[in-house]
Order: sequence, then C-alpha cells, then structure tokens
Amino acid sequence: MIDTIIDLTEPKKQLYDMKLEDLERWVTELGQPKFRAKQIFNWIYKKRATSIDDMTDLPASFREELKQKAVLATMKEVTRQVSKDGTIKILLELHDKSTVETVLMPHNYGNSVCVSSQVGCRMGCTFCASTLGGLIRNLTAGEIVEQTMFFQRMLDDQGDRVSSIVLMGSGEPLENYDAAMKFIDMISAAETLNIGTRHITVSTSGLVPAIRRLADEKRQITLAISLHSPFDDLRSSMMPVNRAWNIAQLIDACRYYWDQTGRRLTFEYALIGGVNDDLKHAKALADLLGDLPCHVNLIPVNYVPERNYQRTPKDQIRAFQDELNQLGINATVRREKGHDISAACGQLRAEQGRI
Ligand code: SAH
Repeated sequence: MIDTIIDLTEPKKQLYDMKLEDLERWVTELGQPKFRAKQIFNWIYKKRATSIDDMTDLPASFREELKQKAVLATMKEVTRQVSKDGTIKILLELHDKSTVETVLMPHNYGNSVCVSSQVGCRMGCTFCASTLGGLIRNLTAGEIVEQTMFFQRMLDDQGDRVSSIVLMGSGEPLENYDAAMKFIDMISAAETLNIGTRHITVSTSGLVPAIRRLADEKRQITLAISLHSPFDDLRSSMMPVNRAWNIAQLIDACRYYWDQTGRRLTFEYALIGGVNDDLKHAKALADLLGDLPCHVNLIPVNYVPERNYQRTPKDQIRAFQDELNQLGINATVRREKGHDISAACGQLRAEQGRI
C-alpha cells in the first residue's frame, strides 16, 4: 500500500535568493548563455522588476521556462503604518503565510531599512515582542533581500535609494548566520543595490562564538550588541542568552572583534524605568566598556503591551547620558523613530494576531 505520495517536481528557485554566480551556473545548466544571468539581475536589481514577465529582452521561450522553474517577488503587504516622522512599518506575508516586519527610517543622511532575519525569535528577552511566540523559522537570504527591495521600490517613486541596512528587526541574525551573511554579500554587490558594508549593521543579543566567527571574517560591517545591563544577574533576568555567555565573555569577544576588524562597536542600552536606569548602572557600564572603542546608544524602552515596563523619565535619561559622557564613554540617545506607531520589534505582528 502506498500511503505517501512523493512530489518529484523540483521546488521553484527563488530568484532573490540567488547570487549572480548561482544564477550564471543555473542558466548555463538550462542551456542558456551565461550573460542571461546578468540580464536577469539587471531586471531584478536595476529595473526593479517584480515579475518574470517584465523581462522583455529574454527570449519568450526562456521566459516561459523561467516562469515554470522560478519565482521572483512573492511577499504580500498585510498592513502598513506610517509615522508622522516618516517612518514606515510594513507587515509582510511570506509564501507559507508567516509574517515579518520591515521598517523604513528616513534620516537626514539617507534611508535606513531595518530587516527581520527570522520569523519570531527564541532568545526570550523579556522586553521584546518578537519573542512572544517563540521562533517559527529562519528566513532565507532571499527573503531578507526581498524585504529590502520592497522599500527600494517604494523609494524609487521619489528618486531615492536605500542607503543603509540594519539587521535589527525580528530575530537573532547571528543564529541565522549563513543567510544573514549571504544577504550582506548580495545586497552590497555592485550588481545589486551596492550598499557599502560600512553602512550595514548587524545587531546581536550576544552569541559569543558567532561574534568571534564574524570577527575572523574581517567584514567591515558595524556590530551592535544589545547589552541593556552591566550586571550579570540583572542581564540574565532580562536576556536568557546571558546564562550561556556572560558579560565578561561577551566583552572579550567584542575586544576581539575590534582587534580583528578595527571597527568601533555599538552597544544598545534600552532604558527601563527602575530596572537598569540608575546612575550606578551608568558607572558600572563605563567601567565595563573602559577603553574599548565604542558608542553607546541609549534607547527609551518601547512599550510592549504584553510586558509591563515603564519608560525612564526624560531628565533621568539625560542624567544617565551625561554620566557616561563624563566617564569618557560616547553615548547618545537614539532619536525616536515611529514612536506613534508600533515601532518595537514584533509589535505589529503581535497586534495583528499573527503570532
Ligand atoms: N536579536 C538581535 C536583533 C533584534 S532586536 C538583538 O538582540 O540585538 C533589535 C534591538 O531592539 C535590540 O537592541 C533589542 O534589544 C531592542 N529592543 C527589543 N525590544 C525593545 C523594546 N521594547 N524597546 C526598546 N528596544 C527594544
């Protein structure tokens, strides 16, 4: 008795998931000249095509074959929130109906896109909405590329471009290491969006072995560390990852990153009223970071309805920042983007009941 039917048809290729050399190899296997790959790439990344039908300079028969064997843009916009400050947050539905959030943040120096690297997250940080339903799955590099292209197409209407990327949306990018790095390779290539690696930031909750691996690759990206506390007991209570690798191990890995890459680090510190915002925390933070070339980004915690954290009052934020600056640590308060919309990671997805 046959009780399973095996589907022998090959899964369709995701064009956004292919590097130029992958595409060159594949079109050659299909009996086409190698330059077809360049043509397709041009359509996808320079002319921003969203359908294979748009690729009018490909032979019609090859276009048909491509449509049988590959797909291009597949994500659907579920909802959009537009902030008074120009921040746009979009919930995108993937082919398997799961959803991710992507955010565009216009700054005076250019347009930054914040991409998600996973559907959900398993890191369990107590202040973060992305982790509420756990990890559903990793995204492919192509799915991260498509999030970026979604906003690039929107910016095309105003003759503008995505100039920087932050891997700071939902998910832990260093847990989806290969896809995150493939995404960075792809999006920084001249044939695609040509976004310089120095304009790409990877944010991590502190996966020490992955930070060391990244350091060894000597990429020129910016590494941002979500620190949030200078004390192990407090950090472990907010971020379970700290039980696997404590603060000392994390800072050691950061020093190694600096030694290998010469890139100044960024530390993110979400200020939570009455939890981590006392001046004793600022002093301990300054001691901890010492002479490590770095920058501290103070973020007034975003309210997540499922969590009951309070924001630090404005003058306390200022006092915290002043204390750090006086102790020789370069600290700024992150200009709030999209505070009037659900700007914290995972908030929009949670609100929409899509967890
Ligand atoms: N997993 C990665 C990247 C995603 S989180 C990381 O932990 O860095 C991106 C940033 O948003 C992190 O610094 C995270 O700590 C912060 N964040 C999450 N929820 C927040 C909230 N409610 N308010 C302020 N910052 C928050």
